[in-house]
Amino acid sequence: MHVVACHDCDLLNQFPDKAAATLLCARCGAVLYRHRPDSIDRSLALTLGALILFIVALSFPFLAMKSGGFVQETRLLTGIRELWRQQLYGLATLVLLTCVLVPLGQIAGLLYLLAPLKWDLPAPHAIRVFRLLRHVAPWGMLEIFMLGILVALVKLGKMATIVPGISVFAFGLLVLVMAAAISALDPPLLWDRLDRRR
Ligand SMILES: [Zn+2]
Repeated sequence: MHVVACHDCDLLNQFPDKAAATLLCARCGAVLYRHRPDSIDRSLALTLGALILFIVALSFPFLAMKSGGFVQETRLLTGIRELWRQQLYGLATLVLLTCVLVPLGQIAGLLYLLAPLKWDLPAPHAIRVFRLLRHVAPWGMLEIFMLGILVALVKLGKMATIVPGISVFAFGLLVLVMAAAISALDPPLLWDRLDRRR
């Protein structure tokens, strides 16, 4: 038997260890746990997709500015360097963190966690990595960054013709695929598998 507290009404529910696919609170019917089938495979596949999108987002042009027959293309990393050169250090650091380092860390962390479980490879400190991943999640603010870009596009549109590059679309997809990869995770299953390997 194991005991699960209901997050809605605080009732302590008791379930047998071999439990059903979905556990409901006995008093209020809230869903306490839902088994996600093939969660490791699905999350791993989505994470690999996210890695490809991330590489595309960094290697293709982000924006092209057309003004008076003059076209200037910017990639994300050159854009960050440009912000730094114009002494916008805070903004450059923020973009570097939220658009490059945090997504990269999340993708690397998920791969480090999931690939060894899938192929039965050693992964020292995997539990620490999983904890870290859950702490870092709120710092990946790609979504907010995407909104900022849309606002900037609309405003700059009056001064020059702005053409969003492949990179912008790759980032947009990356937001969705990362969210799907994380929601495909089954934390109780992961804790259990990680614990057994220790
Ligand atoms: Zn309840």
